[in-house]
Amino acid sequence: MINRVVVFMIQESEMLRIKLFNCQKQEARIVDMEEYVVGAVAASMPPEFPREALKAQAICCRTLAAKRARIFGGSGCRRQQEFDVCSDPDHCQGFLDEDERQKIWHSCYEEYTEKIRQAVDETRGMVLVYNDNPIEAVFHPACGGYTEDSENVWGNRVSYLRRVECIYCKDSPYWKTTRTFSIRELKKRLGINFDDHQVDKIEIPGLIHKISSTAAGRIKSVKIGDMLFDGDEVRNLLNLPSTRFAWKVSSVSFQVMGMGHGLGMCQYGARGMALLGFPVDEILKFYFTGAEIRTLEKPTSSKPLKGKIIVLDPGHGGDSGSTGPMGLSEGYVNLEIARVLADCLEQEGATAYLTRDKNEFKSLAERVRFSNDVKPDITISIHQNIFSDDKMGGTETFYYPGDAEGKRLAEHIQKNLVLALMLRDLGAKEADLYVLRETNNPSVMINVAFLSNPEEERLLSEPDFRQKAAAAIIEGILSYYQD
Ligand SMILES: [Zn+2]
Ligand SMILES: [Zn+2]
Repeated sequence: MINRVVVFMIQESEMLRIKLFNCQKQEARIVDMEEYVVGAVAASMPPEFPREALKAQAICCRTLAAKRARIFGGSGCRRQQEFDVCSDPDHCQGFLDEDERQKIWHSCYEEYTEKIRQAVDETRGMVLVYNDNPIEAVFHPACGGYTEDSENVWGNRVSYLRRVECIYCKDSPYWKTTRTFSIRELKKRLGINFDDHQVDKIEIPGLIHKISSTAAGRIKSVKIGDMLFDGDEVRNLLNLPSTRFAWKVSSVSFQVMGMGHGLGMCQYGARGMALLGFPVDEILKFYFTGAEIRTLEKPTSSKPLKGKIIVLDPGHGGDSGSTGPMGLSEGYVNLEIARVLADCLEQEGATAYLTRDKNEFKSLAERVRFSNDVKPDITISIHQNIFSDDKMGGTETFYYPGDAEGKRLAEHIQKNLVLALMLRDLGAKEADLYVLRETNNPSVMINVAFLSNPEEERLLSEPDFRQKAAAAIIEGILSYYQD
């Protein structure tokens, strides 16, 4: 049975407090949520920006805090474990307290603070949600024409972080910038070998080639000299504002569009839209596909899975599927484990969907489409392994290469399964599987045991064993959300 659930009522007075670690000052603070949002907006957007843009920023900052805060079931800051958020803009979210704002804004302190506070007050309690859960409301200074699809930056698809064409940041200083390097400097910075005899020519054949770019026009990978780089590596090594760049060769000039990772809200775009008269909700809905604005609800319990939507995929099923040496059907076992898992998840306050609820055939494409339509928080595929050598046994969990959340989820589930079932630990591993690649949300595929191994087939036929496996998977999901 699951006994990890702690339910407690949160006192009104301590309800919307954020535990903040101020990295600049190395100082711990407990701040009221709305006050926190003032400091976060101050750190994230120029206060000269128009009101609707500041309101959009306030909603993004509040949403990111709600997503992290443990009081709403968030994981907290993963670097400063006891805190909800840290003030490192590259980790959780930037924050400027009163002193810091005074230092930066000098004589404008009163005016700017008042302006930001108004934007925060006018959006009091509002957060961006997708399927009723706060989203990763990320933003960047300027997209330079197109925002980016999440998989091109994070590796995993997120339904509300889709590419949009943005002309609204055209007036920003980052719309187009140029950085020029001599060939010698380029060689030094990138650590590449290149014969530069032909440098005085206008073209330098073979210096930059094999370019692949995203649909949004950002560089995914490029070969410079003798080395292959990720767009992000070139961006970091040459200190370019974004990966949306092109070049000219005499010396080499990189022409860069936009600034930042390109995900979510383009801040100069929000400014441009506000100047054109767009209200805050239209600005946010433009950049966060399918997201809605809600007022933050008072949390009543700390069940980490409350409100989560989880899709369980017990494989294709049907009679055509695989069986063990004693005739146990994989389609049947997978479905039985998924059913127990679904019951446990419902008890934890989550909503569980099965991609099939009978032992009948359903194609892979159909099951993936189902998962993407439901828009869950995570997807878990349950399978058993079949191998020619019947002595081969153990438990393994797969995630899609580059899916950081999938990897974390796989590691938590694998650890708990191995502890509970005590079969051989084959590890949490990368695999380029269709079900993982095509699913729009963090997903894992579990091989609980080897159906081809007579001993493990016998275990899989026992309801107790299947219950134990389901309970271990839940423990893994819980620790994934609490980590
Ligand atoms: Zn942090
Ligand atoms: Zn833009």
